[in-house]
Amino acid sequence: MSNSLFPWQDGVWQQLQQMRARLPHAILFHGAEGIGKTAFAEQFAQSLLCEQPQADGHACGVCGSCGWFMQYNHPDYRRVRPEILDGEDAAEGDGADGEAGDGKKTAKSAKAPSKEIKIDQIRALSGFMNISTHRQGQRVVLLYPAEALNTAAANALLKTLEEPPPNTVFLLSSNSLDRLLPTILSRCRKFAMPLPSREQAMAWLRQQEVKDADVWLAEQGGAPLTAYAQSQSEGRELIDEFLQHLTRPGIDGALKCAEHLQKTPVAELVAWQQRWLYDLFSFKLSGTIRYYPRYEKALAGLAAKVETGALLRALKSSNERRAIAEHPLSARLFIEDMLLDYAAMFA
Ligand SMILES: [Zn+2]
Repeated sequence: MSNSLFPWQDGVWQQLQQMRARLPHAILFHGAEGIGKTAFAEQFAQSLLCEQPQADGHACGVCGSCGWFMQYNHPDYRRVRPEILDGEDAAEGDGADGEAGDGKKTAKSAKAPSKEIKIDQIRALSGFMNISTHRQGQRVVLLYPAEALNTAAANALLKTLEEPPPNTVFLLSSNSLDRLLPTILSRCRKFAMPLPSREQAMAWLRQQEVKDADVWLAEQGGAPLTAYAQSQSEGRELIDEFLQHLTRPGIDGALKCAEHLQKTPVAELVAWQQRWLYDLFSFKLSGTIRYYPRYEKALAGLAAKVETGALLRALKSSNERRAIAEHPLSARLFIEDMLLDYAAMFA
């Protein structure tokens, strides 16, 4: 009835049901970005709160509890996420649920919405955890992405996880375990979420009527939801210009490219370039390409011109760039610097 899992999640859903009899206080769903972890955890949350879950563990979709849940109105449910994700439900394209009543129109200030989960958001949970639950049932907190917790918030959450309140289940979702505090990790039961097979992902993308689905899927490392989001994004011409530039490294082109792309989120450009470097490296070592098969010819030509050591250094500095890409002092200078370094590898 209320099963709207992605087609690649049925097996893992069954696996999760085995945890139900002795439910841990905290479960951490982890795996690649863009495979539907959050929607999955959300369905699990609904099923935990449902008054008459079905034999396969899915929520019934019709009880009072499910009704509240689907309107983000359930008194025993809290969702904790960075402010920047508010209002993105409709854009996720996963058809997991509606977004009614989710306060998405609360543009409180002109300040850019935060990308972090802040301590106030964790503190706000304590009131919630101190009142009794509807019909003495469970209380569920869904928190994502866990790596968005800033240090103060992570420490506050840790205190809660160390002394878990009764009848409360924390569901966390994370794209990168290595960015979480080890102490948080050790308090959660880890639950791995799989990447769909290529066939599953392609079938789903075709259902969404995505053209050139294979290109998008490869560029996103096999993650269908990010592939879908990219296929719908408006900045595609700019990304193509960027990739085109990478095929022809040079100083003039670098300066021009930086000028054109200075309004593009810098972190995204770093990620695009990182995958590009990874493909160059992979082609050099083994003649294979993962992310940009349609640029195979260009990548092969470039791989022949560059030294392995230089590529390794470029990959390393690309990681460092990624760490500061969220707040560059000047986007244009940042991109220039990145592309000039890139050009120098081939000089
Ligand atoms: Zn129900």
